Amino acid sequence: MGLKNKPGTFIDRYINNSNVNKHRALELKINYLKGLAFEYEKKHDEFIQKESQLIESYYLEDSQPLNNQLNGETKSDIKRNKLIKKFDQKAYWSRRRFKTSELRRNNEMKVESLLELWDKAQKDKKDDYLKILDQKYPHVSHNSITTNKIEAKIAILDERKAKQYKMMNLKSQKIQQTVKVFLKNNSSRIAKMQNKNTKLNILIANYNQKRLKEDQKLLDRYKPELVALQNTQHSEKQLLKLENHVDKIENVIKMIKDESIHLSVSHLKMYFGGIKAINDLTFDVQKGEIFGLIGPNGAGKTTVFNCITQFYKATSGNMILRNKENHIVNLDDYKTHDMIKEGIARSFQNVELIWELTVLDNLMVAAHSLLITSFFDHMAHTRKLLREDKVIRTKGYQILKNLGIEEYAFRSPYGLPYGVLKKIELARTLMTDPALIILDEPAAGLNDAETRDLANVIKKVNKEYGITIFLVEHDMGLVMSICDRICAISFGKLIGLGSPKEIQSNPEVRKAYLGDDDDE
Ligand code: ATP
Repeated sequence: MGLKNKPGTFIDRYINNSNVNKHRALELKINYLKGLAFEYEKKHDEFIQKESQLIESYYLEDSQPLNNQLNGETKSDIKRNKLIKKFDQKAYWSRRRFKTSELRRNNEMKVESLLELWDKAQKDKKDDYLKILDQKYPHVSHNSITTNKIEAKIAILDERKAKQYKMMNLKSQKIQQTVKVFLKNNSSRIAKMQNKNTKLNILIANYNQKRLKEDQKLLDRYKPELVALQNTQHSEKQLLKLENHVDKIENVIKMIKDESIHLSVSHLKMYFGGIKAINDLTFDVQKGEIFGLIGPNGAGKTTVFNCITQFYKATSGNMILRNKENHIVNLDDYKTHDMIKEGIARSFQNVELIWELTVLDNLMVAAHSLLITSFFDHMAHTRKLLREDKVIRTKGYQILKNLGIEEYAFRSPYGLPYGVLKKIELARTLMTDPALIILDEPAAGLNDAETRDLANVIKKVNKEYGITIFLVEHDMGLVMSICDRICAISFGKLIGLGSPKEIQSNPEVRKAYLGDDDDE
């Protein structure tokens, strides 16, 4: 882990790495406990909501007819209305049956006129029916004695409702008490862990300072060596090696000094045989910014991403990252599957979801590398595992809700609009608590409205989660509207770096990428 040939004794490095690992483990535990506390609070809120809804619905069911009676409706009215409703329903269905059967039998005859006749007959029938009903159920307004009786019945219902609420509140108090105890125990545990984490932060910062001094010493030793080598007979390989080494140390020093840099790419080269896909590319990505990488087709954008995420091992150059623990690491020393732990998540040009799983399950799969449960928990299906499952499920659902796509949580992503699938991919990257998200052409295949929508979601993720976004995109509208800074490349070489305005007015970029006209 860390830089090869980096300063400090083996013991120093070993201690620092173990501090970083402790920091990570604590961070996961804190997240889990916070999630669990949230689950308990949610449980109480759900109980109150469900219970009061039930009480209200029972009360309404029982008191509605009584209230109707108080408002002038007598028992005979209720019966009469019920019978008329039945009659109307019968008439409606027989009209439908009549329409279809007559149509089938009498194609040439006008159905409309037949229906008119039928409706008239039905109206006469209904009038007769109403007369009979009126005789059978005469409208009698109730007297004060009946009114009193009804009011007494309503008062009993009110009392019953109040009793039910009282019981509910008692139960709620009990739940609240247990939640309170749980929160108290856990918040003190969380506070203790956060305390430990702060101490670890200090230790890591101290290590960085120590490293800064030792790196500076190394640099003082290597630089004259480099100059001497340049001025004498030298082998190209030896010189490149030393140059690369000095560049690495200089970048680490720069990043320790300037905490606003998240990722530093320097003199990156990637050759595929004779093809120079990336040729001496240097740029920094600042913490918390939206950074865009643009360039014509085949310029090498995806290759840059593949080098950073270690899909490809770069031919030469340095990629230095400030990880989530503020530890400065050389990405070259890591494998692709380590990237998530270092705080990097990525999405691909094509949507890569598991179609057989629900959207929420897709998100949960992404979080598996950050679980705190052990192999044993999974084998034995312990309570801890079930709890963690719930915590992660809630987290996934909240992310979907935050991005406005919670309605798709429980269905398969198969057949969903492309715009939604892209958002699901973005949501999935958030499950790993990344500090840097790398997006490869997020707007590819989207229409204008979907692109605008996605732009807002990317901005939201950047602002609300405080995540650095590094994206490759062809859609100039999207890049210019959301990026804080843009890097333009052509044939693997840097041709412009700056704000969207600066890039738009950069003559070299216009020539290579925008076609040197004023349309875009
Ligand atoms: P696009 O905008 O079309 O996605 P890009 O800017 O992402 O293009 P890359 O895909 O990075 O460009 O490719 C840059 C150059 O590297 C191209 O000439 C490509 O043919 C070459 N290249 C990329 N990957 C490989 C590989 N695995 N083997 C050989 N050549 C490759």
